[in-house]
Amino acid sequence: MATLTLHPGKEKSVLRRRPWLFSGAVAQLDGRARPGDTVDVVSHEGRMLARAAWSPDSQIRARVWSFDAAETIDHAFFKRRVTASVARRAALPELSGQHGLRLIHAESDGLPGVIADRYGDTVVVQLTTAGADKWRGAIADSLLKATGCARIYERSDVEVRKLEGLEAVTGWIHGTASDDELAITENCVHMAVDIVGGHKTGFYLDQRDNRRRLAELARDRRVLNCFCYTAGFSLQALAGGAREVVSIDSSGPALATAQRNLALNPQLDASRALWREADVFAELRNMRGAGESFDLIILDPPKFANTAAHAERAARAYKDINLHAMQLLAPGGLLMTYSCSGGVSAELFQKIVAGAALDAGRTARIVQRLQGAADHPVDLAFPEGEYLKGLLLQGD
Ligand code: SAH
Repeated sequence: MATLTLHPGKEKSVLRRRPWLFSGAVAQLDGRARPGDTVDVVSHEGRMLARAAWSPDSQIRARVWSFDAAETIDHAFFKRRVTASVARRAALPELSGQHGLRLIHAESDGLPGVIADRYGDTVVVQLTTAGADKWRGAIADSLLKATGCARIYERSDVEVRKLEGLEAVTGWIHGTASDDELAITENCVHMAVDIVGGHKTGFYLDQRDNRRRLAELARDRRVLNCFCYTAGFSLQALAGGAREVVSIDSSGPALATAQRNLALNPQLDASRALWREADVFAELRNMRGAGESFDLIILDPPKFANTAAHAERAARAYKDINLHAMQLLAPGGLLMTYSCSGGVSAELFQKIVAGAALDAGRTARIVQRLQGAADHPVDLAFPEGEYLKGLLLQGD
């Protein structure tokens, strides 16, 4: 096995159990290692610190599998980690009965580069790093054993794989399904999940609790759901008794699935749902011009910043939509606003939203801070894992 030696002082972050080793921390690699191979990580004095996956093409040169020098990285290692991750979900009452559930949340479950989501008896895996890619077989096999699921589909088609020198990989790893579209039930609403063509692994599971919260707030309100995707928030608003729900997305296919999802739920009053295929930035302005007003607005945009380097551009985009949404908010109305950009901290997001309120000429107060559901945990040693943050605001 090759040995990766760190520069003096760079062992500190590993000792604090931080899993990423950036290029600037690496002094040298002794021995041969191909992308994804496991390397021993040692301090400049030769003290064994961790075992990590080597990613020569990425600025994150290595990601730690284990901080235990005695632990071997083999099939049994992945079986232990995957089993523990699945067991953690089973131990939380709000998660144990879910049809749609994140089983593995990468670094925060001790498995950098590994995402696994369960939809009924199908697991969808996404492997984003060279190390994760290398252990595909062990990860898939462990997931099948730990869950008893019938099928595993791979959706490793994310952009970040390019930074690792990896091609996109998609397709069935185990079993097949005749119909690629699956359905789950979330908070009593049925939702189709397109694991082959949908975003992420098909669905935004991280917003489960927040969608339930929305249902509690929606009664008799006129609701605007911006960036609605397949209507997760919209259908919860209808289930909660909203007077009307206007949903906007720029993607035709997402809106087509959204309407199919509505049809899957005959208990909901479809006549209260209106759909607009449009750019949210432009449509918020148009609606202001048309004198529209809403009692409850949801802003759940896509990631505007992957890294802190893009935070400034992202800040302008967040400010723009929040400012224009606040101008559409009826007196006393509620705004549920999110950022899923890793490069924008919760503190920065709050500042941006405060600036938007000021420029909109509105006062508002935070009534709740919102985050991802419990199947998207954040390892205390890896605060970067906290990508989703939201604010529930009550306007004056
Ligand atoms: N709230 C959704 C997830 C939102 S994902 C849920 O709970 O499932 C972000 C969505 O924003 C995607 O559907 C994408 O098509 C859409 N989108 C991205 N840019 C947009 C824009 N400028 N205007 C409108 N929709 C946009």
